[in-house]
Amino acid sequence: MKENPQNKKKFVIRKSDRRQGPPGRGPRSPISQAAFAVATLLILAGAYSLFRGAPTAPKEISLSELSLDISKGLVQSVSVKGDALDASYFGGLHKSSQKEASTALTTTLKNYGVSSEALGKVKIAVENEQGFLYWLSSLVPIVLPILFIIFFLWYLSRQVRGAGMQAFTFGQSKARLTNPNDPKSRVTFKDVAGAKEAKEELKEIVDFLKNPKKFLDIGARIPKGILLMGAPGTGKTLLARAVAGEAGVSFFSISGSEFVEMFVGVGASRVRDLFNLAKRSSPAIIFVDEIDAVGRVRGTGVGGGNDEREQTLNQILVEMDGFEPNEKVIVMAATNRPDVLDPALLRPGRFDRRVTLDLPDRKDRREILEIHAKKKPFAEDVNLDVIAERTPGFSGADLYSLMNEGAILAARENRTKVSQFDLIRSIEKVIIGPERRSHLLSKKEKELTAYHEAGHALVASVLPYADPVHKITIISRGRALGYVFKLPLEEKKLQSKKEFLDDIAVGLAGYAVEKDIFGDITTGPSNDLQVATALARDMVTKYGMSEAMGPIALESQGGKPLYGQGPFENEYSEEVGAAIDAEVSRVMNDSMKRAEKIIKDYRKVLNAIAERLVEVETIEQKEFEDLISAHGIVPKRKKDLEHQR
Ligand code: ADP
Ligand code: ZN
Ligand code: MG
Repeated sequence: MKENPQNKKKFVIRKSDRRQGPPGRGPRSPISQAAFAVATLLILAGAYSLFRGAPTAPKEISLSELSLDISKGLVQSVSVKGDALDASYFGGLHKSSQKEASTALTTTLKNYGVSSEALGKVKIAVENEQGFLYWLSSLVPIVLPILFIIFFLWYLSRQVRGAGMQAFTFGQSKARLTNPNDPKSRVTFKDVAGAKEAKEELKEIVDFLKNPKKFLDIGARIPKGILLMGAPGTGKTLLARAVAGEAGVSFFSISGSEFVEMFVGVGASRVRDLFNLAKRSSPAIIFVDEIDAVGRVRGTGVGGGNDEREQTLNQILVEMDGFEPNEKVIVMAATNRPDVLDPALLRPGRFDRRVTLDLPDRKDRREILEIHAKKKPFAEDVNLDVIAERTPGFSGADLYSLMNEGAILAARENRTKVSQFDLIRSIEKVIIGPERRSHLLSKKEKELTAYHEAGHALVASVLPYADPVHKITIISRGRALGYVFKLPLEEKKLQSKKEFLDDIAVGLAGYAVEKDIFGDITTGPSNDLQVATALARDMVTKYGMSEAMGPIALESQGGKPLYGQGPFENEYSEEVGAAIDAEVSRVMNDSMKRAEKIIKDYRKVLNAIAERLVEVETIEQKEFEDLISAHGIVPKRKKDLEHQR
């Protein structure tokens, strides 16, 4: 029964990077290789059977039978061809037989008891078989298998050599080169909505790449490294490509994780190769995506104290230091974890230019939606403003995925245009996952879920700093059995202590309902508890929002490890740790009491909401507001309007 929109699933959709390897022979697919081998085999077999010739064999008889026939005087003549005997009988009949090798036919026949007399009546002709065909027919059965084996060995060795060659190319960078002149893969600033400051900052770089002389003449030092920072899906990769597209320079992109392979030293040599490659085709941009994969703080033991990674990182630093300003190669890197990066990367002369990409605000969201709406046919009722309004916290990638889901929904229902309704439904789908109507709750579960969600919704409506409810449903979605969909009244950059406290109480409402009304607790609220506890802990350890602890940040933003320390070392003593735990549990218990009190005081409303939920399964904002208004709770929207008046 998750309901926290911050906890939403991220869908990062990537347009597949255009791969443009160096020109040359691509590896043949295994299928075509196998076909090649089979074809060769067939041809050889065919040739062999041609040489053998089709046997137009007369009746084959044994040597003793032949001897008998000769004794009886039935045989007119016998011709000997090698070991093959062809006996022609009186009356034109032919029979064939085989003589013993290396023994003269006459000797053999005599041994079989043919008298010299009878033998004398038979013409025996020994045909000279030393001709070309004779040799061929006797050689082919021997030579052919040998040839075949040789061919097979050669074929195998070629494969092995191929693999060997691959081993030699390990050290080569796997960078993908985007050709600046390919209009299909070209991305420009126009394709990136919002991110005004970032674009402004990067324009300078574009300017330099286009027109380096102007800068170099005046002795300006252009930054070598630019670090793009921002949450996943905020368009870091996209923006880096756009810089290359704007400047019209080669764009070498590689992901941090691609540097690191099984073999030690590969990463470093890949770095060298990549930089050489870029220098040769300068002006160019080298883009290292997800640089935190190699650029983590060294020597912490985090991630296994990977020597290989350190070598790779060192090599990047060495290469960047070795740049001459006139080399016109700029290194860009992207990360969503700037807090874990090695400080050496951030030193002047390296990635000293930092560009932050924020989650888009409403106006930006609208623009991003517009960009991704371009190729989609829309029905008249589509209003992107409304979608932008309802998607706070969505990243560019989320919005892209929203538009895509909308189109899929429309197509699935055999419509040719995407309607507003499709897009609205997609919002939830992107946040929580697809609806699972097939997931049936038992009657008891349904009732419990209804009360649980009603509890969240009720507490959210009563507490002044909680976000208003947009929708409640007990139709399960993704892994959630039901959820309350809340949206802030306006976009917020800052969150206050009061808001946090109300959020925690709202989060605990489901738990409180189960405990107080059903007298038992299910596994349903486990996620609620996790989210609420994490929030309470952050209040105490990060934001200085606890009176008992005072104004102190005990943990860094990104997580525990601070520079130079292992992951499990806290910067505080055990006593402080115990105090934190006590404070967190105090916050949780206070919030729980607040939630329980509201549930008790407004029990009638709770029942009304829950019963309605069991009946219709989904309550939209309007109906919900009417429902609570009828019981004397002023809906937040109206209350706010009253304030304004
Ligand atoms: P990141 O690298 O920051 O994780 P990406 O650059 O890979 O994010 O963005 C993923 C996709 O999201 C992009 O391909 C694009 O379709 C969309 N997107 C993200 N930000 C924007 C934006 N500002 N304008 C337009 N599209 C965006
Ligand atoms: Zn819940
Ligand atoms: Mg990216």
